Amino acid sequence: MLFSSIDGKNKKKIVLLPHNNPDGDALGSSLALLFYLRKLRHDVDLISPTGYSEFFQWLPGTDNILVFSEKTKSLVKKKIVNSDYVFFVDFNNLSRIKNLREFFLYSKAKKILIDHHPFPFRFDFMFSDSTVSATSILVFRFISEMNHLDKIDKEIATCLYVGLMTDTGFFRFPSVTSETHFIAGKLIEKGIDIDNIYDHLQEKYNENKLKLLSKALKKLKVIKKYRTAYTSINASDMNFYSYKQGDTEGIITYGLGIKDIVFSVFFFEERKKYPIKISFRSKGSFDVNLFSRKHFGGGGHKNAAGGILEKSLSESIEYFLNIIPNYHINLMSSI
Ligand code: 5GP
Ligand code: MN
Repeated sequence: MLFSSIDGKNKKKIVLLPHNNPDGDALGSSLALLFYLRKLRHDVDLISPTGYSEFFQWLPGTDNILVFSEKTKSLVKKKIVNSDYVFFVDFNNLSRIKNLREFFLYSKAKKILIDHHPFPFRFDFMFSDSTVSATSILVFRFISEMNHLDKIDKEIATCLYVGLMTDTGFFRFPSVTSETHFIAGKLIEKGIDIDNIYDHLQEKYNENKLKLLSKALKKLKVIKKYRTAYTSINASDMNFYSYKQGDTEGIITYGLGIKDIVFSVFFFEERKKYPIKISFRSKGSFDVNLFSRKHFGGGGHKNAAGGILEKSLSESIEYFLNIIPNYHINLMSSI
């Protein structure tokens, strides 16, 4: 029913929504959908609930992204309220589009989920599979089920490939399957420039970002007993190093690089005091999605999750340190 109503015979108003602070998979998937659905002659808008890292500015189509702000609020509201369909891309929980949530009270749009996170809320149409490594895979499957693989051009393929690369850690994570590589192969057949994409996605440091990393590494604490490493960045560090969105990305991976550490945690005081954003990464069986759901009102995937606390930075760290002993056995046995 969805497929026949968006096959292009009738023009629809469609809004694409990635999550707050969209990453490579959220942006790649929604940009690919934008190009694809526009090819079917729909009236399509891509609305980002927040800004996104400069790192992704090079992606094809970013000049089409409408970023929510006080300035664009009424336009964003109008678009959401008047749309026929809204695609929720790369998230399944409305808490991840905080700013835009209220607009759905007034909108009759059918809600379509296209996402790979576990435990989704209910949507009108669900393309949800938590076994795949990236939402980009689900976008590829979606286009394939529409019988439109021929409509994937170099731009769409580039966006999807970026989603694959970023969410699989360049095809390294355990979630990579033969399907991941099969799809990557199909995208390569569309003439994408792998060298160039890889070059864009290489970690690039500006002076401030590097110094922020050094600050975080200096503060890194290792709790050998719990095979855990954690660190933080506070609001004054951010001001001092003129923080720009994306500058803290990658900090969390260093903890997991230490021998025998299986759990890395990063506390981020984005604004003075509240809320604190916390990122979790693990290796092996220790499930940070469950951990974050239970204690930090968040979620994510088994080995990468995030959450938020309405506490000060030091209270948040203390809260965490009180919980962690309960997971001693899980952490000791995580391989
Ligand atoms: P990051 O640490 O990079 O912000 O997030 C890692 C993963 O955790 C993301 O891909 C996303 O799936 C999930 N995640 C991050 N923050 C939240 C949150 O506040 N709520 C939920 N449900 N998931 C989150
Ligand atoms: Mn994703």
